[in-house]
Amino acid sequence: MTKEFFRCTVCEDVHYGAAGPEECPTCGAENAYKSIEEKEAKESMGF
Ligand SMILES: [Zn+2]
Repeated sequence: MTKEFFRCTVCEDVHYGAAGPEECPTCGAENAYKSIEEKEAKESMGF
């Protein structure tokens, strides 16, 4: 299974997995996760 990075469009929380969470565990937004590139994910996480 291919894993990808996803980011919440509301609070910018980054998730790594096969799919973005239906509900953001951080801010509670529904279907707010959008697929992003690994480079973008690392920048969001401060690498
Ligand atoms: Zn969120």
